[in-house]
Amino acid sequence: MQGLTKERMAGQPTSSASGRVFNFSPGPAMLPYEVMVRAQEEFLNYGGLGASVLEISHRSKDFVSIVEEATSVFRELVLLPEDYSVLFMHGGARMQFAAVPMNLIARKPARKAAYVETGVFSANAIKDAGPYGTIDTVATSRNIKFVRIPDLDLKRVAEDTSYLHITTNNTAYGTRWNNFPDTGDLPLVGDATSEILSRVVDYSRFALVYASLQKNLGPAGTAIVVIRKNLLGQALPETPPLLNYAVVDKGQSLVNTPSTFNIYFALLVMRWIRGLGGVREIERRNDQKAELLYEYLDRSNFYRPLVDKAHRSTMNVTFDLPTPEATEIFVKEAGKEGLYALKGYREVGGIRASIYNGMPLEGVQALVSFMQEFERKRG
Ligand SMILES: *Cc1c(COP(=O)(O)O)cnc(C)c1O
Repeated sequence: MQGLTKERMAGQPTSSASGRVFNFSPGPAMLPYEVMVRAQEEFLNYGGLGASVLEISHRSKDFVSIVEEATSVFRELVLLPEDYSVLFMHGGARMQFAAVPMNLIARKPARKAAYVETGVFSANAIKDAGPYGTIDTVATSRNIKFVRIPDLDLKRVAEDTSYLHITTNNTAYGTRWNNFPDTGDLPLVGDATSEILSRVVDYSRFALVYASLQKNLGPAGTAIVVIRKNLLGQALPETPPLLNYAVVDKGQSLVNTPSTFNIYFALLVMRWIRGLGGVREIERRNDQKAELLYEYLDRSNFYRPLVDKAHRSTMNVTFDLPTPEATEIFVKEAGKEGLYALKGYREVGGIRASIYNGMPLEGVQALVSFMQEFERKRG
Protein backbone atom coordinates (compact mmCIF):
# COMPACT_ATOMS: atom_id res chain seq x y z
CA MET A 1 0.00 0.00 0.00
CA GLN A 2 3.07 2.16 -0.16
CA GLY A 3 2.36 5.61 -1.56
CA LEU A 4 -1.39 5.29 -1.21
CA THR A 5 -2.08 8.79 -0.04
CA LYS A 6 -5.52 10.10 0.80
CA GLU A 7 -5.84 11.59 -2.67
CA ARG A 8 -5.03 8.31 -4.34
CA MET A 9 -7.53 6.48 -2.20
CA ALA A 10 -10.16 8.98 -3.30
CA GLY A 11 -9.33 8.06 -6.86
CA GLN A 12 -8.17 11.53 -7.77
CA PRO A 13 -4.83 11.71 -9.44
CA THR A 14 -3.16 14.93 -8.42
CA SER A 15 0.31 15.83 -9.51
CA SER A 16 1.47 16.31 -5.95
CA ALA A 17 0.00 13.12 -4.51
CA SER A 18 0.79 10.41 -7.02
CA GLY A 19 3.29 11.98 -9.38
CA ARG A 20 0.70 11.71 -12.13
CA VAL A 21 -0.17 14.71 -14.23
CA PHE A 22 -3.45 15.82 -15.76
CA ASN A 23 -2.81 14.38 -19.17
CA PHE A 24 -4.47 16.18 -22.09
CA SER A 25 -2.84 13.94 -24.71
CA PRO A 26 -5.00 13.27 -27.80
CA GLY A 27 -4.10 9.57 -27.78
CA PRO A 28 -2.86 7.35 -26.36
CA ALA A 29 -4.59 9.27 -23.65
CA MET A 30 -5.25 9.52 -19.95
CA LEU A 31 -7.18 6.51 -18.65
CA PRO A 32 -9.46 6.36 -15.60
CA TYR A 33 -7.31 6.30 -12.51
CA GLU A 34 -9.34 3.63 -10.74
CA VAL A 35 -8.92 1.36 -13.75
CA MET A 36 -5.17 1.87 -13.85
CA VAL A 37 -4.97 0.92 -10.18
CA ARG A 38 -7.18 -2.13 -10.71
CA ALA A 39 -4.99 -3.34 -13.59
CA GLN A 40 -1.92 -2.81 -11.45
CA GLU A 41 -3.42 -4.71 -8.53
CA GLU A 42 -4.24 -7.78 -10.56
CA PHE A 43 -1.32 -7.58 -12.96
CA LEU A 44 0.79 -10.35 -11.42
CA ASN A 45 -2.01 -12.59 -10.34
CA TYR A 46 -5.16 -12.39 -12.39
CA GLY A 47 -8.28 -13.71 -10.69
CA GLY A 48 -6.25 -15.89 -8.32
CA LEU A 49 -4.73 -17.85 -11.22
CA GLY A 50 -1.19 -17.14 -10.09
CA ALA A 51 -0.42 -15.78 -13.54
CA SER A 52 -0.87 -12.47 -15.30
CA VAL A 53 -3.59 -11.97 -17.88
CA LEU A 54 -0.59 -11.46 -20.20
CA GLU A 55 0.54 -15.02 -19.54
CA ILE A 56 -2.58 -17.07 -20.18
CA SER A 57 -3.79 -18.60 -23.42
CA HIS A 58 -6.30 -16.68 -25.48
CA ARG A 59 -8.17 -20.00 -25.70
CA SER A 60 -8.26 -20.53 -21.95
CA LYS A 61 -11.67 -20.31 -20.37
CA ASP A 62 -10.50 -17.38 -18.25
CA PHE A 63 -9.59 -15.34 -21.30
CA VAL A 64 -12.56 -16.41 -23.39
CA SER A 65 -14.76 -15.18 -20.57
CA ILE A 66 -13.00 -11.80 -20.75
CA VAL A 67 -13.87 -11.48 -24.45
CA GLU A 68 -17.43 -12.58 -23.80
CA GLU A 69 -17.90 -10.16 -20.94
CA ALA A 70 -16.29 -7.29 -22.89
CA THR A 71 -18.76 -7.93 -25.68
CA SER A 72 -21.76 -8.20 -23.41
CA VAL A 73 -20.90 -5.15 -21.31
CA PHE A 74 -20.45 -3.11 -24.49
CA ARG A 75 -23.83 -4.31 -25.77
CA GLU A 76 -25.42 -3.39 -22.47
CA LEU A 77 -23.79 0.06 -22.32
CA VAL A 78 -24.95 1.14 -25.79
CA LEU A 79 -28.22 -0.83 -25.80
CA LEU A 80 -27.05 -2.58 -28.95
CA PRO A 81 -29.82 -4.17 -31.01
CA GLU A 82 -29.64 -7.99 -31.35
CA ASP A 83 -28.77 -7.94 -35.04
CA TYR A 84 -25.33 -6.41 -34.50
CA SER A 85 -22.00 -8.12 -33.81
CA VAL A 86 -19.18 -6.74 -31.67
CA LEU A 87 -15.66 -7.60 -32.84
CA PHE A 88 -12.16 -6.88 -31.60
CA MET A 89 -9.65 -6.49 -34.43
CA HIS A 90 -5.97 -5.81 -34.86
CA GLY A 91 -4.43 -2.66 -36.19
CA GLY A 92 -6.40 0.15 -34.61
CA ALA A 93 -8.67 2.49 -36.51
CA ARG A 94 -6.38 3.00 -39.45
CA MET A 95 -6.55 -0.67 -40.34
CA GLN A 96 -10.32 -0.20 -40.50
CA PHE A 97 -9.82 2.52 -43.12
CA ALA A 98 -8.93 -0.38 -45.45
CA ALA A 99 -11.09 -3.07 -43.84
CA VAL A 100 -14.31 -1.07 -44.31
CA PRO A 101 -14.05 -0.82 -48.13
CA MET A 102 -12.69 -4.38 -48.41
CA ASN A 103 -15.78 -5.66 -46.61
CA LEU A 104 -18.47 -3.32 -47.85
CA ILE A 105 -17.65 -1.73 -51.17
CA ALA A 106 -18.57 -4.81 -53.22
CA ARG A 107 -22.16 -4.69 -51.88
CA LYS A 108 -23.06 -3.02 -55.16
CA PRO A 109 -21.48 -3.81 -58.52
CA ALA A 110 -20.44 -0.17 -59.06
CA ARG A 111 -18.02 -0.47 -56.11
CA LYS A 112 -18.68 3.08 -55.01
CA ALA A 113 -18.43 4.61 -51.56
CA ALA A 114 -19.27 8.10 -50.31
CA TYR A 115 -17.18 9.88 -47.66
CA VAL A 116 -17.57 13.14 -45.76
CA GLU A 117 -14.25 14.87 -45.21
CA THR A 118 -14.17 16.63 -41.84
CA GLY A 119 -10.51 16.52 -40.87
CA VAL A 120 -7.24 14.66 -40.77
CA PHE A 121 -8.56 11.17 -40.11
CA SER A 122 -11.43 11.31 -42.57
CA ALA A 123 -8.93 12.45 -45.23
CA ASN A 124 -6.82 9.39 -44.44
CA ALA A 125 -9.87 7.15 -44.54
CA ILE A 126 -10.65 8.48 -48.02
CA LYS A 127 -7.07 7.89 -49.15
CA ASP A 128 -6.87 4.37 -47.74
CA ALA A 129 -10.18 3.37 -49.36
CA GLY A 130 -8.93 4.50 -52.77
CA PRO A 131 -7.52 1.18 -54.03
CA TYR A 132 -10.82 -0.68 -53.57
CA GLY A 133 -13.24 1.29 -55.70
CA THR A 134 -14.55 4.72 -56.59
CA ILE A 135 -14.51 7.03 -53.61
CA ASP A 136 -16.77 10.10 -53.75
CA THR A 137 -16.08 12.89 -51.28
CA VAL A 138 -19.69 14.08 -51.08
CA ALA A 139 -19.05 16.92 -48.62
CA THR A 140 -15.96 18.59 -47.18
CA SER A 141 -15.11 21.52 -44.96
CA ARG A 142 -11.48 21.62 -46.07
CA ASN A 143 -11.96 25.07 -47.66
CA ILE A 144 -12.85 26.51 -44.25
CA LYS A 145 -10.09 24.63 -42.44
CA PHE A 146 -12.48 22.07 -40.98
CA VAL A 147 -13.93 24.47 -38.40
CA ARG A 148 -17.37 22.91 -38.80
CA ILE A 149 -19.10 19.81 -40.11
CA PRO A 150 -20.11 20.56 -43.71
CA ASP A 151 -23.72 20.46 -44.85
CA LEU A 152 -24.43 17.12 -46.43
CA ASP A 153 -26.94 16.83 -49.23
CA LEU A 154 -27.79 13.14 -49.45
CA LYS A 155 -29.09 13.71 -52.98
CA ARG A 156 -25.43 14.06 -53.94
CA VAL A 157 -24.83 10.44 -53.00
CA ALA A 158 -25.17 8.28 -56.12
CA GLU A 159 -27.89 5.61 -56.12
CA ASP A 160 -25.41 2.75 -56.56
CA THR A 161 -23.25 3.69 -53.56
CA SER A 162 -22.32 0.89 -51.15
CA TYR A 163 -22.01 2.97 -47.96
CA LEU A 164 -21.51 6.46 -46.54
CA HIS A 165 -18.58 7.06 -44.17
CA ILE A 166 -18.33 9.80 -41.55
CA THR A 167 -15.92 10.55 -38.70
CA THR A 168 -18.22 11.17 -35.76
CA ASN A 169 -15.69 13.21 -33.74
CA ASN A 170 -12.74 14.97 -35.32
CA THR A 171 -9.77 14.65 -33.02
CA ALA A 172 -7.40 17.17 -34.58
CA TYR A 173 -9.86 20.04 -35.10
CA GLY A 174 -12.29 19.44 -32.25
CA THR A 175 -15.60 19.16 -34.09
CA ARG A 176 -18.27 16.51 -33.93
CA TRP A 177 -21.51 15.49 -35.59
CA ASN A 178 -24.45 16.32 -33.37
CA ASN A 179 -27.04 15.07 -35.84
CA PHE A 180 -26.06 12.01 -37.78
CA PRO A 181 -27.28 11.86 -41.37
CA ASP A 182 -30.44 9.87 -41.89
CA THR A 183 -29.32 7.56 -44.69
CA GLY A 184 -32.27 5.18 -44.87
CA ASP A 185 -31.19 2.00 -46.66
CA LEU A 186 -27.71 3.29 -47.38
CA PRO A 187 -25.38 1.84 -44.72
CA LEU A 188 -23.87 4.55 -42.53
CA VAL A 189 -20.33 3.87 -41.27
CA GLY A 190 -18.83 5.89 -38.42
CA ASP A 191 -15.27 6.24 -37.16
CA ALA A 192 -15.93 6.94 -33.47
CA THR A 193 -12.35 6.49 -32.30
CA SER A 194 -12.07 9.71 -30.35
CA GLU A 195 -15.48 9.54 -28.71
CA ILE A 196 -16.62 5.94 -28.29
CA LEU A 197 -18.67 5.50 -25.12
CA SER A 198 -18.50 9.20 -24.33
CA ARG A 199 -22.09 10.11 -25.25
CA VAL A 200 -25.34 8.33 -25.88
CA VAL A 201 -25.51 7.19 -29.50
CA ASP A 202 -28.31 5.31 -31.21
CA TYR A 203 -26.36 2.50 -32.86
CA SER A 204 -29.34 1.48 -34.95
CA ARG A 205 -28.64 4.58 -37.06
CA PHE A 206 -25.34 3.01 -38.12
CA ALA A 207 -24.49 -0.06 -40.14
CA LEU A 208 -20.97 -0.10 -38.75
CA VAL A 209 -19.11 1.81 -36.05
CA TYR A 210 -15.43 1.34 -35.33
CA ALA A 211 -12.94 2.81 -32.90
CA SER A 212 -9.42 2.09 -31.81
CA LEU A 213 -9.15 1.83 -28.06
CA GLN A 214 -6.45 4.30 -27.08
CA LYS A 215 -8.57 7.41 -26.56
CA ASN A 216 -11.44 6.24 -24.41
CA LEU A 217 -11.02 2.52 -23.84
CA GLY A 218 -7.45 1.44 -23.26
CA PRO A 219 -4.18 0.60 -25.02
CA ALA A 220 -3.41 1.22 -28.70
CA GLY A 221 -3.36 -1.38 -31.46
CA THR A 222 -6.85 -2.83 -31.26
CA ALA A 223 -10.17 -1.66 -32.68
CA ILE A 224 -13.66 -2.43 -31.53
CA VAL A 225 -15.97 -2.91 -34.51
CA VAL A 226 -19.75 -2.96 -34.29
CA ILE A 227 -21.44 -4.23 -37.43
CA ARG A 228 -24.97 -5.04 -38.48
CA LYS A 229 -25.01 -8.76 -39.20
CA ASN A 230 -26.66 -8.50 -42.60
CA LEU A 231 -23.49 -6.78 -43.87
CA LEU A 232 -21.27 -9.75 -43.10
CA GLY A 233 -20.08 -12.01 -45.89
CA GLN A 234 -19.72 -9.52 -48.74
CA ALA A 235 -15.95 -8.98 -48.56
CA LEU A 236 -13.73 -8.74 -51.62
CA PRO A 237 -12.14 -12.15 -52.26
CA GLU A 238 -8.62 -10.82 -51.60
CA THR A 239 -9.53 -9.65 -48.07
CA PRO A 240 -7.13 -11.21 -45.52
CA PRO A 241 -8.96 -13.39 -42.99
CA LEU A 242 -7.97 -11.12 -40.09
CA LEU A 243 -9.61 -8.15 -41.84
CA ASN A 244 -12.70 -10.04 -42.94
CA TYR A 245 -15.59 -9.21 -40.61
CA ALA A 246 -17.39 -12.49 -41.33
CA VAL A 247 -14.28 -14.51 -40.41
CA VAL A 248 -13.62 -12.51 -37.25
CA ASP A 249 -17.29 -12.75 -36.27
CA LYS A 250 -17.33 -16.51 -36.77
CA GLY A 251 -14.12 -16.85 -34.77
CA GLN A 252 -15.49 -14.62 -31.98
CA SER A 253 -12.50 -12.25 -32.31
CA LEU A 254 -10.13 -15.17 -31.60
CA VAL A 255 -9.12 -16.16 -35.12
CA ASN A 256 -5.50 -15.78 -34.13
CA THR A 257 -4.01 -14.46 -30.89
CA PRO A 258 -5.58 -11.06 -30.25
CA SER A 259 -4.00 -8.34 -28.11
CA THR A 260 -5.31 -10.05 -25.02
CA PHE A 261 -4.25 -7.31 -22.63
CA ASN A 262 -6.04 -4.65 -24.71
CA ILE A 263 -9.34 -6.50 -24.60
CA TYR A 264 -8.94 -7.14 -20.88
CA PHE A 265 -8.22 -3.47 -20.28
CA ALA A 266 -11.19 -2.34 -22.37
CA LEU A 267 -13.36 -4.58 -20.22
CA LEU A 268 -12.08 -2.88 -17.06
CA VAL A 269 -12.87 0.54 -18.55
CA MET A 270 -16.35 -0.57 -19.58
CA ARG A 271 -17.05 -1.99 -16.13
CA TRP A 272 -15.92 1.35 -14.71
CA ILE A 273 -18.38 3.22 -16.97
CA ARG A 274 -21.16 0.87 -15.94
CA GLY A 275 -20.27 1.41 -12.29
CA LEU A 276 -20.55 5.18 -12.69
CA GLY A 277 -24.05 4.81 -14.05
CA GLY A 278 -23.49 4.05 -17.72
CA VAL A 279 -23.01 6.13 -20.84
CA ARG A 280 -25.68 8.66 -19.86
CA GLU A 281 -23.74 9.49 -16.71
CA ILE A 282 -20.36 9.65 -18.43
CA GLU A 283 -21.96 11.93 -21.04
CA ARG A 284 -23.22 14.21 -18.27
CA ARG A 285 -19.70 14.40 -16.85
CA ASN A 286 -18.17 15.01 -20.27
CA ASP A 287 -20.68 17.80 -20.98
CA GLN A 288 -19.90 19.38 -17.65
CA LYS A 289 -16.14 19.33 -18.32
CA ALA A 290 -16.49 20.68 -21.84
CA GLU A 291 -18.95 23.41 -20.80
CA LEU A 292 -16.59 24.63 -18.12
CA LEU A 293 -13.86 25.09 -20.69
CA TYR A 294 -15.98 26.51 -23.51
CA GLU A 295 -17.77 28.91 -21.18
CA TYR A 296 -14.47 30.35 -20.13
CA LEU A 297 -13.21 30.51 -23.73
CA ASP A 298 -16.35 32.36 -24.81
CA ARG A 299 -15.94 34.93 -22.06
CA SER A 300 -12.25 35.52 -22.65
CA ASN A 301 -10.88 38.18 -24.99
CA PHE A 302 -7.48 36.54 -24.85
CA TYR A 303 -8.21 32.99 -25.95
CA ARG A 304 -10.14 32.24 -29.11
CA PRO A 305 -12.02 28.96 -29.62
CA LEU A 306 -11.25 27.52 -33.06
CA VAL A 307 -14.44 25.84 -34.21
CA ASP A 308 -18.11 26.70 -34.77
CA LYS A 309 -20.26 26.55 -31.67
CA ALA A 310 -22.78 24.23 -33.28
CA HIS A 311 -20.18 21.51 -33.91
CA ARG A 312 -18.00 21.66 -30.83
CA SER A 313 -16.54 18.42 -29.58
CA THR A 314 -16.73 17.56 -25.91
CA MET A 315 -13.62 15.39 -26.27
CA ASN A 316 -11.11 17.66 -28.01
CA VAL A 317 -11.30 21.37 -27.21
CA THR A 318 -9.21 23.58 -29.50
CA PHE A 319 -8.34 27.24 -29.06
CA ASP A 320 -5.77 29.82 -30.00
CA LEU A 321 -3.76 32.44 -28.17
CA PRO A 322 -2.94 35.87 -29.64
CA THR A 323 0.48 34.81 -30.94
CA PRO A 324 2.43 31.60 -31.61
CA GLU A 325 5.00 32.80 -29.06
CA ALA A 326 2.31 33.06 -26.38
CA THR A 327 1.14 29.57 -27.31
CA GLU A 328 4.61 28.16 -26.89
CA ILE A 329 5.04 29.76 -23.46
CA PHE A 330 1.57 28.57 -22.48
CA VAL A 331 2.40 24.95 -23.29
CA LYS A 332 5.70 25.13 -21.45
CA GLU A 333 4.32 26.76 -18.31
CA ALA A 334 1.27 24.51 -18.24
CA GLY A 335 3.62 21.53 -18.35
CA LYS A 336 5.38 22.79 -15.25
CA GLU A 337 2.01 22.90 -13.48
CA GLY A 338 1.29 19.26 -14.26
CA LEU A 339 -0.95 20.02 -17.25
CA TYR A 340 0.54 17.75 -19.88
CA ALA A 341 0.39 17.57 -23.72
CA LEU A 342 -1.69 20.65 -24.56
CA LYS A 343 0.00 21.48 -27.85
CA GLY A 344 -2.40 21.59 -30.78
CA TYR A 345 -2.23 19.28 -33.78
CA ARG A 346 0.70 20.30 -35.96
CA GLU A 347 -1.39 21.44 -38.94
CA VAL A 348 -3.82 23.35 -36.74
CA GLY A 349 -1.53 25.02 -34.20
CA GLY A 350 -2.82 26.60 -31.01
CA ILE A 351 -3.88 24.51 -28.05
CA ARG A 352 -5.85 21.29 -27.94
CA ALA A 353 -7.11 19.93 -24.65
CA SER A 354 -8.24 16.33 -25.07
CA ILE A 355 -10.61 15.56 -22.24
CA TYR A 356 -11.73 11.99 -22.78
CA ASN A 357 -13.67 9.85 -20.32
CA GLY A 358 -10.55 9.32 -18.20
CA MET A 359 -10.02 13.03 -17.51
CA PRO A 360 -11.58 13.98 -14.17
CA LEU A 361 -13.42 17.29 -13.71
CA GLU A 362 -10.54 18.39 -11.45
CA GLY A 363 -8.20 18.29 -14.45
CA VAL A 364 -10.35 20.72 -16.41
CA GLN A 365 -10.77 22.94 -13.35
CA ALA A 366 -6.98 23.01 -12.97
CA LEU A 367 -6.61 23.91 -16.64
CA VAL A 368 -9.14 26.76 -16.43
CA SER A 369 -7.43 28.15 -13.31
CA PHE A 370 -4.11 28.04 -15.10
CA MET A 371 -5.63 29.78 -18.14
CA GLN A 372 -7.10 32.54 -15.98
CA GLU A 373 -3.78 33.15 -14.31
CA PHE A 374 -1.95 33.10 -17.65
CA GLU A 375 -4.43 35.59 -19.11
CA ARG A 376 -4.10 37.84 -16.09
CA LYS A 377 -0.33 37.91 -16.42
CA ARG A 378 -0.09 38.23 -20.20
CA GLY A 379 -3.47 39.38 -21.51
C1 LIG B 1 -6.73 8.43 -33.37
C2 LIG B 1 -7.68 8.28 -34.48
C3 LIG B 1 -7.50 7.38 -35.53
C4 LIG B 1 -6.24 6.56 -35.66
O1 LIG B 1 -6.21 5.52 -34.77
P1 LIG B 1 -5.05 4.43 -34.87
O2 LIG B 1 -5.38 3.49 -33.79
O3 LIG B 1 -3.74 5.16 -34.69
O4 LIG B 1 -5.14 3.81 -36.22
C5 LIG B 1 -8.48 7.28 -36.48
N1 LIG B 1 -9.60 8.01 -36.44
C6 LIG B 1 -9.81 8.90 -35.46
C7 LIG B 1 -11.06 9.71 -35.45
C8 LIG B 1 -8.86 9.08 -34.45
O5 LIG B 1 -9.08 9.97 -33.48
